Amino acid sequence: MDKIPMHAPVVEMDGDEMTRVLWQMIKEELIAPFVELQTVYFDLGLKNRDATEDAVTVEAAYAVKKYHVGIKCATITPNADRVREYGLRRMYKSPNGTLRAILDGTVFRTPIPAPCLMPYIRTWKKPITIARHAYGDIYRAVECSAEAGDTAELVVSRQGAEFLRTPIYRFEGAGVVQGAYNKDASIEAFADSCFRFALEEKQDLWFSCKDTISKTYDGRFRDIFARLYEEKYKALFEAEGLSYLYTLIDDAVARAVRSEGGFLWACKNYDGDVMSDMIASGFGSIAMMRSVLVSPSGDREYEAAHGTITRHYRRYLRGEQPSSNPVATIFAWTGGLCWSGKLNGNPQLVRWSCDMEKAVLQTIASGCITKDLLPVYNGTPEVVSSAEFLRRVRESYLSLSGA
Ligand code: NAP
Ligand code: MG
Repeated sequence: MDKIPMHAPVVEMDGDEMTRVLWQMIKEELIAPFVELQTVYFDLGLKNRDATEDAVTVEAAYAVKKYHVGIKCATITPNADRVREYGLRRMYKSPNGTLRAILDGTVFRTPIPAPCLMPYIRTWKKPITIARHAYGDIYRAVECSAEAGDTAELVVSRQGAEFLRTPIYRFEGAGVVQGAYNKDASIEAFADSCFRFALEEKQDLWFSCKDTISKTYDGRFRDIFARLYEEKYKALFEAEGLSYLYTLIDDAVARAVRSEGGFLWACKNYDGDVMSDMIASGFGSIAMMRSVLVSPSGDREYEAAHGTITRHYRRYLRGEQPSSNPVATIFAWTGGLCWSGKLNGNPQLVRWSCDMEKAVLQTIASGCITKDLLPVYNGTPEVVSSAEFLRRVRESYLSLSGA
């Protein structure tokens, strides 16, 4: 059988622990036999990040800018324990944070719908995509403690001189203070990418925040979304029969739980962090959540939403065959290669991606699943190891594609 050629390479970012093992297995079992894979490879595994003092992460990010498509394995974000465990030279920043800082853009997370998986929330029939504004707010805030008798004020200087001084609080007892910010340009780029993604995916767009309480800060988000919609997207949305809804975050949560799904929900940074976990678990498993970072210039980085599954890796190192779910990592590959196929006019590669995704869903529908799906599975399941699951996906692919 002839392998499918690629017209341009994609950036491959290897990672850590159990997902690094799955990464290799997926390439051997599902990709290499069918695709003449061309990648520009970066090893973002923690050992190599340490050996390169994290330069490899920065190089990988610039490679995604150059080649327009990146596919990333989950990686360890080191904490104090990891510094000891790996004998690291320093506590490196989160690779995803570094990638986002260089590529900018918005992270879209979508559950992978499999008909035989029953969402914990019974009304959900179609996936809900969360768009998270991955910049600023509490993630870039400064904080400090206050003692009894302290006074906290918000001071803004303009051209070197004090411009505005607003009292925050006079502490009668101990407490805490926080100062957060965001930028109009970042909010606008976020809003723009959400409107564009909604049009591409033909989904309604919701945006929620708390402008009743945060009149200036969250009010700015609401106003930027509203202006961009009126000026640039209203006619396009109406032509597609799509709608844009602004509502308060608490109302959005209540509506989302009662909804059938099938829409794009744009969230501020913290809301997106929390809601994407809620949506993933509500639909069944974090291992069935795909994730893509879309930069303002249209570059895309695909990954799974979960981490390196450390607990399973420890069992793997003891010689067990863990039943870790490789689906989100497979979908990172199919998503990235499908996008590459679309960018480079390669319909064979697009078809391979679609067929491989179908093969995954067919395997699950046949009852063959990993352990995490057991509580939400509707049918008679057979729980298998990751390796066996991948073998079955390959069999499904072969029968489905007639290869
Ligand atoms: P995690 O790797 O997502 O795993 C947490 C738990 O969720 C696992 O122990 C497992 O539960 C379940 N799980 C996650 N993915 C699964 C899969 N594919 N199949 C089956 N079960 C799955 O999160 P973590 O343990 O908090 O973090 C581990 C490491 O990953 C950390 O070093 C963190 O820095 C890193 N991380 C990386 C990323 C990223 O690169 N994007 C994201 C998050 C975390 P059971 O043990 O109950 O089976
Ligand atoms: Mg989170």
